[in-house]
Amino acid sequence: MSLVVRGAIKDYDWGIIDGLARWSDGATGSPQAELWYGVHPGGPSPLVDSQGHTTDDDLARHFDVESIPLLVKLLAAAKPLSVQVHPNRSLAAHGYAAQQTGEESRRIYSDPFEKTELLVALQDFEAFAGWRNQTESIAFLSAIEALNPGLDLSEAKNELTHGNFKAALPLLIQANTSTIIRTLAQAAESIGLEHAQVVAYEIVIKEYANDAGALITPLLAYLALSKGEAVFLPAGVPHSYIRGIGVEVMTSSDNVVRLGLTSKPVFVDHALMAINDDLQPQVMRTHIGDLIWPVNAPFVVRLLESGTERMPTGAYRIALAIEGKSSIVFEDAEIMIQPGRAAVMSAHDPDADVEAHGLVAVIQSTILTQA
Ligand SMILES: [Zn+2]
Repeated sequence: MSLVVRGAIKDYDWGIIDGLARWSDGATGSPQAELWYGVHPGGPSPLVDSQGHTTDDDLARHFDVESIPLLVKLLAAAKPLSVQVHPNRSLAAHGYAAQQTGEESRRIYSDPFEKTELLVALQDFEAFAGWRNQTESIAFLSAIEALNPGLDLSEAKNELTHGNFKAALPLLIQANTSTIIRTLAQAAESIGLEHAQVVAYEIVIKEYANDAGALITPLLAYLALSKGEAVFLPAGVPHSYIRGIGVEVMTSSDNVVRLGLTSKPVFVDHALMAINDDLQPQVMRTHIGDLIWPVNAPFVVRLLESGTERMPTGAYRIALAIEGKSSIVFEDAEIMIQPGRAAVMSAHDPDADVEAHGLVAVIQSTILTQA
């Protein structure tokens, strides 16, 4: 009928200390970055029994990625995650296959699937997403030059003038020094960027002054989301979440190709292959209760605070309780979910209604399955 799961926790170093405690096992005194709800082999969700206790069973033992094509996460970022891009379907499939045959000896891809993601803010959330506008990007690089006598970024600026942001990236990575990185915030201020952006660059300097990828952040657009607002990032759009707490919904993939701001491996060559300059992030100024339905997303999402939402049979569905207790009502049964727990329904499970008594994220795949 429906399985109830809890999130599989990830303690990446960029997480907020105890940032996910209210949705997991509680405080650990260390960074808590993500809780995963899905069947991805990187963190299949543990099942919870009818008494609410965690079992040693997990969701991946019951369903495969065909039945559960989405991965949902609660994410808590204290400092910028890597500047990253996700591969589309064809790049992921080819890249993963090349690793399996040994043709590619580096471990770049985690699985053969496209990763397309949506972040819905649960509180103020900041990110770099997509390209900054051309004029501002060029002005930013000129301001960096002015603060670093002898530095010549004219080749990178020339690429930007022709709209070729991708070609400017390796040039900036080559030019990088920690002295230059330390001028990012001042450069941002000198071209009149708002205070929040200057602060974002101060964070980059504090955390990543020796990271070659830090110098590409001036090319990325700054984005501030309020609670209930969202950004959809199709595969191919470069981004870096800066800080905040949110719900993330994505195709069931962990394929992250990094360009910088990370201690993990960086694969600039593959990131450049993955970037698609024709795509932009979709920023959605939605409110709690609105349907979030990005163009070309294989899912719809609604954060519901009260009232009811129907989740019809025929597609994968998941309801994740965030605050208060919500109920999942079937024709002949009702289950209650506590914060941090999610009810998971495959396409073959019957119609269900979510009754919200507090905040619940309702996520439905738009890929219908034949009964
Ligand atoms: Zn991402």
